[in-house]
Amino acid sequence: MNTDSENRDQLTTRVQRPSVTKPHDPLSSSVIPGSTPVSGFISGEVIQKRIPSSTLSTLCSVAILFAALFAGCQHGPPKERGQFKESDLVEVVKLDSTIHLDIRYATTNNFLHRPVYAQARAFLQRPAAEALVRAQKALKSQGYGVLLFDGYRPWSVTKIFWDSATDAERKIEFVANPRKGSRHNRGCAVDLSLIDLKTGLAVAMPSEYDEFTERAFPTYAGGAFEARALRDLLRKAMEAEGFTVYSAEWWHFDYKDWKQYHILNLPFEALGR
Ligand SMILES: [Zn+2]
Repeated sequence: MNTDSENRDQLTTRVQRPSVTKPHDPLSSSVIPGSTPVSGFISGEVIQKRIPSSTLSTLCSVAILFAALFAGCQHGPPKERGQFKESDLVEVVKLDSTIHLDIRYATTNNFLHRPVYAQARAFLQRPAAEALVRAQKALKSQGYGVLLFDGYRPWSVTKIFWDSATDAERKIEFVANPRKGSRHNRGCAVDLSLIDLKTGLAVAMPSEYDEFTERAFPTYAGGAFEARALRDLLRKAMEAEGFTVYSAEWWHFDYKDWKQYHILNLPFEALGR
C-alpha cells in the first residue's frame, strides 16, 4: 500500500495482521484538553430544559469547535497551498496494453479482506505513467514485465484505510493519516511486482505484497537469492526512469515529481473509460 509515512512494524518475523473488522472513527475518541464532553445530547431544545444558558453557550462553543475540527479533518482532502501542476491522470494500460494488472484493492485479496475499489484500474500522472512504460520496455528485453498492484488512490480510500486501522496501526503509520494524505493520492506512486513473460506468472519476491515484515525491505538480505535478484532487477529498472523505492517496501515507488501534484479524490469512475 503506501503511505507517505510508510513506517512499519517491528520487522523480525511475519506480523499477524490485527483484525480490522471493527472500523472506528479516530475523532470519536478524541478529547480537546480542558473542554467539556458534549456527546449524548440530541438537540439544543433538550439541553435548554436542563441546564443554565451560560453553560449552554459554553457547550455550543465546544460543539462548534468539534464541528469545525470534524469538517476540517474528516470530510475531505487536506487543503494544500502552493503551486501545483494540473492533474493529468492517465490509465496505464491505455499507454501500454502489455502491462499486467492485479489491483488487489478491487478484490478481497488485500489487508482489509474486502474490495475498496469499485473498478480494477490503475492510473498515474502522465509523466509517471510514461516513465513506467519505459521501465516496462527495458524489463521486457530481459524476459520480464511489470505487474501493477496499485497506482493513483482516491483520498477517500486512504480515509477508509485509516478508519479501519487500529490505534497501534496508526501509531506505526501502517496507514497514512488522511489529514496529510498518501503519496498515492497524488498519482505518482505505484505498487508493483514482476511477471515472468515465459510463464505469465508473478515471480517470487522476498515477501508478499503488503507483507509488513523485514522481508519487505528493499535491502533485506535473507531468503532466496533468485527472489532478491528479481527484486533488485525491478528496482534498477524503476530507478533508471526516475522512481525511488520506499525504504520499507520493495514494491512501492514514487515518481520524482510527486510533490508537484495535489492530493486528489476523484473516483476511478470519474476518470473515463
Ligand atoms: Zn504504495
